[in-house]
Amino acid sequence: MLEVVRIPVLSDNYVWLLHDPKSQETVVIDPAVAEPVLKAAAARGWTIGQIWNTHWHGDHVGGNAAIKAATGCIITGPAAEAEKIATLDRLVGEGDSVRIGDHVATVMAVPAHTAGHIAYHLADDRMAFVGDTLFAMGCGRLFEGTAAQMFANLQRLADLPEDTAVYCAHEYTLSNGRFALTVEPDNAALVERVAAVEALRARDEATVPTTIGLERATNIFMRARDVAQLAERRAAKDAA
Ligand code: ZN
Ligand code: FE
Repeated sequence: MLEVVRIPVLSDNYVWLLHDPKSQETVVIDPAVAEPVLKAAAARGWTIGQIWNTHWHGDHVGGNAAIKAATGCIITGPAAEAEKIATLDRLVGEGDSVRIGDHVATVMAVPAHTAGHIAYHLADDRMAFVGDTLFAMGCGRLFEGTAAQMFANLQRLADLPEDTAVYCAHEYTLSNGRFALTVEPDNAALVERVAAVEALRARDEATVPTTIGLERATNIFMRARDVAQLAERRAAKDAA
């Protein structure tokens, strides 16, 4: 079994530490910053051997250089954004695989938030590290891609097993949930989830990871019937 540690940094980012007790390997996904990540690993006696980046934004790669300087780790990231992430050692794209011990993560190309955005799917472990593509009850903004691309990404993620844990990179859940209620006010699963999220956030607790099953039931972007409806919902959320 892989262990996962959530490290809250900056205003609403989550950095994920993934550890394999068998091989003693440790991977960091999207280190926005270095210091809290190095501390979290050291506190557990773990040595960071790899970084996996999902896209080039500073709040996902900002800690790369300092973590590499401290640990000598190997940094993997999207080949399509290599010119924007100076610290990459290993370039990957759709269908490539990366490993932590015996555990395999398959790279999924999910362009839209950024043009080369990727996700890491550990099918056997029922885990997906999705960066800024899929959020709890939300999806990433379309900075470098189209609604059609995001629609395809979300449909593809929706097809993963429903017990797949989804590790997203931000705590945006409450804002997403409140907006979702304006779109699907009669969705009982959504009403119930937003109430639960309100309570968690009132206690300053995290609401992620989520699961593919929960998102299928409550994510109005994943539930959009077509590209036009997703585009309309994304535009409305951007303006909210
Ligand atoms: Zn981003
Ligand atoms: Fe981000």
